[in-house]
Amino acid sequence: MSDPTDDQARDAAADGDPVLDGNAAAGALSEIFAIELTAAVAACAGCGRRAALADATSYQQAPGLVLRCRGCEHVMVRVVLGPDRRWVDLTGVAVLELSIPAS
Ligand SMILES: [Zn+2]
Repeated sequence: MSDPTDDQARDAAADGDPVLDGNAAAGALSEIFAIELTAAVAACAGCGRRAALADATSYQQAPGLVLRCRGCEHVMVRVVLGPDRRWVDLTGVAVLELSIPAS
């Protein structure tokens, strides 16, 4: 029996859209948010799974980028990149837990 994430990767690769992990979104997210978000723990709004955003699967050959939950494939984050603005949809994230360095 194969891992479902392996199946997703094969399906996406067959469509020509390589599946990366959430670290691939680091550049776009750091441009929008002042802190490193890929280390933030996100609770999926679909299944409640909690994991770092870096653990999500990342699809970047859409009009923007999409991060999907590895547990249920629910879309957690969408970022559309315009020439002078960004649109961020976090409705797929129930809770985002950010570590703030002690001052
Ligand atoms: Zn999920």
